[in-house]
Formats: sequence, structure tokens, C-alpha cells
Amino acid sequence: MTEPVRVRIAPSPTGFMHIANIKSAMYDWLLARHTGGSFILRIEDTDLTRKVEGAIDVIYESLKWMGLDWDEGPDIGGPYGPYVQSERLSLYHEAADRLIAQGDAYYCYCSSERLEQVRKEQMANKQPPGYDRHCRNLTPEQRAEYKAQGIKPVIRMKIPLEGHVTFSDLIYGDVTFDYSTITDFVMLKSDGYPTYHLANVVDDTAMKITHIIRGDEWISSVPMHLAIYKALGYTPPLYVHHPMLLGPNRAKLSKRHGDVAVLQYREKGYLPEALFNFLALIGWSLDDKTEIMTRQELIDNFSLERISKTGALFNWEKLEWMNGLYIRNLSLDDFMERSIPYLENGLPETVERPLDKDYLKRMLELVQERAKTLAEVPELVKFFYIEESGYEPDLLIGKKMTKEDAVKVLEVSLERLTTLEPFDIDSMENLLRPLAEELGLKAGQLFGTLRVATTGRTAAPPLFQTMEVLGKEVCLDRMETALKKLKS
Ligand code: GLU
Repeated sequence: MTEPVRVRIAPSPTGFMHIANIKSAMYDWLLARHTGGSFILRIEDTDLTRKVEGAIDVIYESLKWMGLDWDEGPDIGGPYGPYVQSERLSLYHEAADRLIAQGDAYYCYCSSERLEQVRKEQMANKQPPGYDRHCRNLTPEQRAEYKAQGIKPVIRMKIPLEGHVTFSDLIYGDVTFDYSTITDFVMLKSDGYPTYHLANVVDDTAMKITHIIRGDEWISSVPMHLAIYKALGYTPPLYVHHPMLLGPNRAKLSKRHGDVAVLQYREKGYLPEALFNFLALIGWSLDDKTEIMTRQELIDNFSLERISKTGALFNWEKLEWMNGLYIRNLSLDDFMERSIPYLENGLPETVERPLDKDYLKRMLELVQERAKTLAEVPELVKFFYIEESGYEPDLLIGKKMTKEDAVKVLEVSLERLTTLEPFDIDSMENLLRPLAEELGLKAGQLFGTLRVATTGRTAAPPLFQTMEVLGKEVCLDRMETALKKLKS
């Protein structure tokens, strides 16, 4: 029997959660849920210079919004806690002490000025950058001397001076690094905090992580991590590096391309289930045709083997298309509940709050087909609430119509609609189609004038439905306004 899967997402609290990070978390989560394993949240906050207030909450919020529940984490604990690295410093110190004692690591007293000087010389001589190993072979006397000066050292890992290291990645296959390209990196800083490398290895081991699933920008860290695993006598987890998300110009997806923070997608009115589906199928596939998969279908069918090796293009148009599809598939009630926060925010202040749900539902039914994001909904329904009379009067005059035609349409329609009872779709249909003929116009021409008059727009939901929801009084009022605009 194989051991149960234990996977982790290990974000740093930088103030937002990158969409690429969520993609890693999704693969973790899908693997854990597919196999009945555990998905762990660990906060990697050892870089004090990058720490941002409230950032952990953003991580919680991002994961929760995407429906990625964790089985162990800072807030809920678990058998291998604490799950925040700044609360685990003693573990890193122990490991570093051991590496020092074994002769696998060493204290380095070099000042930042000296390191800068070394860097400059390397650049001038066109040598690869890296620590020149000045402190690697200090004598005990030299070390005592530095110590006496009160210099706080860092601890560096000793990397073999020659040879290479090869590891096997589930997606990339065998990956080899020459030791000559790897520097004696810092693993414990002079402030007593570990670097990412040491903390990551210590914790993945202590937390019994079985698979490290992350973006391929981390591949270059692996040889450094392997050096630590080996020296501590630990077995590394399985490596699964997946291709990074690419923007439209095939460069790494960044802010220059558009939104990269997960919660911005919520703000923009994407449904988490649509984003989930979309992201899961960038770089992973069930077959060569399936595009729409529910969360459960993804859990049922997920396998690491089907992650592709080629760069994963982020296509916003496709996301929008998919989001529209998910919106259309919502029940009307669900669509309404999800739209309300956007409406509360996006409708003009003059619209009375709380919004009347019965009325709201009637208009939402008419726009659900057309909404590609929830954030568009306020704009789609705004005209129901307030008269948008700022349009150009010419809009009332359709193709091949004269101004007089339009005036007539409005005058006669006003007269006949005033007495129309009930003011519903069928009655309007029976009244207005023949009216077009009577006035020598095409139905489309007459409807066009009425559409602009009642909604202020040339594009709106079906006319009679819209007029029915607006109600007789509002329609007649707006038609009066239109008539005045035409005549003035
Ligand atoms: N702290 C790293 C990050 O911010 C973790 C990378 C890893 O998964 O090893 O993504």
C-alpha cells in the first residue's frame, strides 16, 4: 500500500495571491481530493522585508473563494503544526546547527560591501555571479576573530565543487544541474531567520509532504534543496513542476498582461467555478476536446500524468466565454443572489436599497443570457431603475426612417398604449405589429424607435418583455420625453 498523498501550498504573505499560485493549489487540492489525501496550507513568512499586514487573510480569502478547503493550516492546526514558518524557527536552527556540526555548512562573516565588491569583479571578468566561498575554509582562529568583532554571521551550505546532480521530475523527467552553476547559498540569515531553501526543506520533511507541486520557476531551487535533503539524510518528496502561466505574448503572466491577483477576478465578476474550470484546463486536460468540467468531474478524473509540459497560455477571451456559460447555467435565484453585491455597489445611489428582489428577478431574467461577468449586471439593468435620457435624438430615427416617421410612431403608440390593458407581452404584440403596417413601417423600425425611447439604448433585452417589466407608467413617461427630444 502506498502512503496517503500529502500536498501543500506554501504561499508567502505578500499581500495578494497570484493566479499561478492558485493553479498550484488547485493541482494540490485535486490530487488530495482524488486520492483521499491531505491538502495543507503553510505560510512561508521568513522574508521579513516582504511581509505585509493582513496578507494571510488575503490568502485565506483567495483559497476559500476558489473553494479550496485545507485539511491542516494555521487557523485549524493539524498534527504537524504550527503552520506558519515564523513560529517554527527552532526547527530551522536545529537543522542548521546539525549541518554546521557535520561540516556541510559554514558560518560566513562577509559584509554586504565585500559581497558587492565580489559581484562587481565577477561582472567585470564576465564570470557567473555567486559567492566566492571566502569563508568556506576559515581557520578556527579566523572565525574566533570575526566573532570577537561582534559580526553576526549567516550560514551557508557547502555545495560540491564539481560534478552534477540529477533529479527526476514527474512532468519534466530527468533534470540535471552542474554544481559549478550553484553557489554556496545562504540558508540562515544573520537575523536568525532561515531562507526559503532551508525552511522549505525542513518543513516539507517535518510535514511529511509526498509531492511538491509548484510552478516551474522553482526548478532552479531544487539542486540547493537536494543538497540539504542529502546532508540531513532526508528523502525528498516527488517533484512536480508545472509550466508557468503565459500571457498573450507568451511571456510569464504578469501585471502587464492584466489581473493576476485571484481576488481581482471576484471583483471583476467571475464565478469561482468558472475560473476553477478555466484554470484547471490550462496545462491539464482530460482528452483533446473536453472544455467544461465541474469541480467533481475534475476531482474524479484528475491525474498528475496529464499535466502538459508546454507553456500554459492564459486566454482572457476564453475565460469570459466560459464565465458567460456558467452564468447562463445558474438558476435565476442563484444568479440574483450572486449579482446583488455587484448591484448594491454598481447601481447609482438614487436607486433605493435594499433592492426589491421580486422586481430585480424580473429584470435579471431578461439579462442573464447576455451577462459575461457579474460586474456587468448593474450596467445591463441600470435603465430599468433610472431614465437614461441623455441619448442623441437621432437614435430614435431608425434606418430608412424620417424624423416624421419617428414622431408618428411615438405619438400613435402613446395614444394606443395608454388604454392598453393588460400591459403585457401578448397585448403589446397584438397592438404594435399591426401598427407598424398601418404606419407603412417595418416592425423592426417601429420597435427600434420604441426601444430607444423606453430604454435609452439601441441594445437591450427583448422589447415587449422589457416594457412589461418597466410598466405602463414608466414607458409612457419615457416615450413623452423622447417625443419632446425629437421635436425640440
Ligand atoms: N513560498 C514559496 C512561494 O511563495 C513556495 C514555493 C514552493 O512551493 O516551494 O510560492
